[in-house]
Amino acid sequence: MSLAERDHNVIWHPYTQMKTAALPIPIVRGEGALLYAEDGKTYIDAVASWWVNLHGHAHSYIAQKVADQLQTLEHVIFAGFTHPAAITFAERLIQILPTGQSRIFYSDNGSTAVEVALKMAIQYWQNKGIPKRKIIAFRNSYHGDTFGAMAVSARSAFTAPFWSYLFEVCFIDVPIPGHEEETIKQLEAYAHASDVAAFIYEPLVLGTAGMVMYTPQVLDQLLSICQQHDILTIADEVMTGFGRTGRTFASDYQQLKPDMVTMSKGLTGGTMALGATSCNEKIYEAFLSDDKHKTLFHGHSYTGNPVACAAGLASMDLLLQEETQQHITHISQRHTAFAEQLKSMPKVVEVRQQGTILAVEFEADGTSYFNKLGDTLYSFALEQGVILRPLGNIIYVIPPYCITDAQLDQVYQTIRGMQELITGNRYFEPPQQTTLHD
Ligand SMILES: *Cc1c(COP(=O)(O)O)cnc(C)c1O
Repeated sequence: MSLAERDHNVIWHPYTQMKTAALPIPIVRGEGALLYAEDGKTYIDAVASWWVNLHGHAHSYIAQKVADQLQTLEHVIFAGFTHPAAITFAERLIQILPTGQSRIFYSDNGSTAVEVALKMAIQYWQNKGIPKRKIIAFRNSYHGDTFGAMAVSARSAFTAPFWSYLFEVCFIDVPIPGHEEETIKQLEAYAHASDVAAFIYEPLVLGTAGMVMYTPQVLDQLLSICQQHDILTIADEVMTGFGRTGRTFASDYQQLKPDMVTMSKGLTGGTMALGATSCNEKIYEAFLSDDKHKTLFHGHSYTGNPVACAAGLASMDLLLQEETQQHITHISQRHTAFAEQLKSMPKVVEVRQQGTILAVEFEADGTSYFNKLGDTLYSFALEQGVILRPLGNIIYVIPPYCITDAQLDQVYQTIRGMQELITGNRYFEPPQQTTLHD
């Protein structure tokens, strides 16, 4: 039996309609921005394996640090005990996080990092005896797949089966260029009610919404309204953190800093599952009490896992190297130049870019995630040896920072090919889907 067939017998994949999906492509090895499939084909990982990979696959430096940690201490209970990797990583995170962040709470993925931030915000007001309980979020945001994270995310087809179980959230529109005033008015209307606990947002780029972007200036205006009305602010930097937007954090573009920051994805360079929620001293102090009821009763078995923290430390070493910073700048500049070329082409609705994130929105009949165009573009890219996972009619590039110029050229070439495909200047027969049910 092939790997794909064995997979099909026992595995249930994420976001996948198992009845109709094509068999998955077995990957047996990775190196740099390249993934090697079982059949010998190579793929450029232009989406950094769901936005997590920063320095390339199977990076030897990270691998060595992880191996060393594994042979020293693989895990230890994190209540009543601690260990050097968690301490050092927290110290170093605080040094690079936006000003004011002073405490790190570990968990194990982006959704749980968001859950922790929401629980901190909600309990903060309870501990202070102030009846604030509402949460404000962007209408088409994505903050994760656990229930609290789903509640503050878009009411979309992805969350529809659970809508009636999700707590109520005040949604405001994303302040995309030209629509800033509407959002400011919506936020002000909610803020004037006295019961708003927190505002959670993806700073500058809403990933899952289709790499929707807005300016640091309007975000500063929103944060200023929150500060005036004593509304806690949570920057969800799970996707934007660790260099993605051109700076270490998207919040680094802001004058005003958040009360809390959530991190995962690039936190370990894409090596180990780890989440972290940071907060400032104001939040932390609201939980200090002789009354045990004011404790933050949250934790996970793998909280502060030493191996994950070691991977995080190794990834941070690499991220802060001059060479990596130059790569980030270089990718950003190349993206800008390519965006300029693509902008005026037929069937290209919009090209958006923020640092190493590039998004191209193509004209399409239905603009939902479920439209056919996305499937065609996905298959087309795979044929070209490039992994690009469209969000409906939007194609985006989030490469590992180590991607070479030649590889980036191939990615751009593939996107040009997509544009030609859509305008009809190129013919492409999507491969027959092979599923065991056909
Ligand atoms: C991916 C993502 C999450 C969820 O992270 P998981 O590790 O997949 O649970 C939360 N917020 C944002 C902004 C994300 O992009």
